Amino acid sequence: AGVTRFAPGDRVVAFHHIPCLNCFYCERKIYAQCPVYKKVGITAGFEPAGGGFAQYVRVMSWIVERGVEKIPDGVSFERATWVEPLNTCLKAVVQSNPQPGDLVLVMGQGPIGLMFTMLANRSGARVAVTDTIEERLGISARCGAGFTWNPRKVDIAAATRKITAGRGADLVMVAASVPGIVEQAIACSRPGARILLFAQTSVTERFEASGADLCAGERTLFGCYSASVDLQKESTDLVFYGGLPLEELISHRVPLVKIRSGFDLALHPGPKSLKIIVQPQRWL
Ligand SMILES: [Zn+2]
Repeated sequence: AGVTRFAPGDRVVAFHHIPCLNCFYCERKIYAQCPVYKKVGITAGFEPAGGGFAQYVRVMSWIVERGVEKIPDGVSFERATWVEPLNTCLKAVVQSNPQPGDLVLVMGQGPIGLMFTMLANRSGARVAVTDTIEERLGISARCGAGFTWNPRKVDIAAATRKITAGRGADLVMVAASVPGIVEQAIACSRPGARILLFAQTSVTERFEASGADLCAGERTLFGCYSASVDLQKESTDLVFYGGLPLEELISHRVPLVKIRSGFDLALHPGPKSLKIIVQPQRWL
């Protein structure tokens, strides 16, 4: 009721988090901290945060107003699943502000890290990436990485310095959460570099940095989380029309009844597993 922008049968993609645009944090464009933003706005139940893995979901009013985009003809639902995750990556890349010629080191080449690789490459920077899963590094190269390193085989800090006249990376984007990775990111960065933490969402995760690396080394360590409503149009256009090789990132498709196997795969990724798509309208 009261919906005028959409008609039955329209194919749409809906964001699950959308800010109020009216609070202390929204006024400062720190949307992910907005209380309304924190409420999941797509639900398979009767309340927000009632789950989303269902054949039919309810999209709450504030999402319908600001967080639903039509999918154009010729663009698949599968491609449209990238609109929200790409937005989160674009937000981080915009905040990181890589410059043409910079050396950007992306640590971790899961789906998020691979999108960082695509977007950093698009900015004109040189991109080096790391992952311990060898199969992913081939995909990284097709997504724009000029240097692909397995940290179990390569001294990443030495390799980074070797291609930056001994300085280190201008920007490091940390897209994996394993012990020691933030320390390694700092070790790979040049003085004055920016180091983005994108996967460090756990309240129990700890890392150590020397005061000198940050203070005398003038490095900026910063976090970025979730999507920006200001980048919704740009991220939607990029997914629909931007020619990004996002199809490379889908490794599995599971029907709703086999969703447990999808979660198992996501929790214990094999050499080939990346993005796992749940197909709610498919039964077997
Ligand atoms: Zn707000």
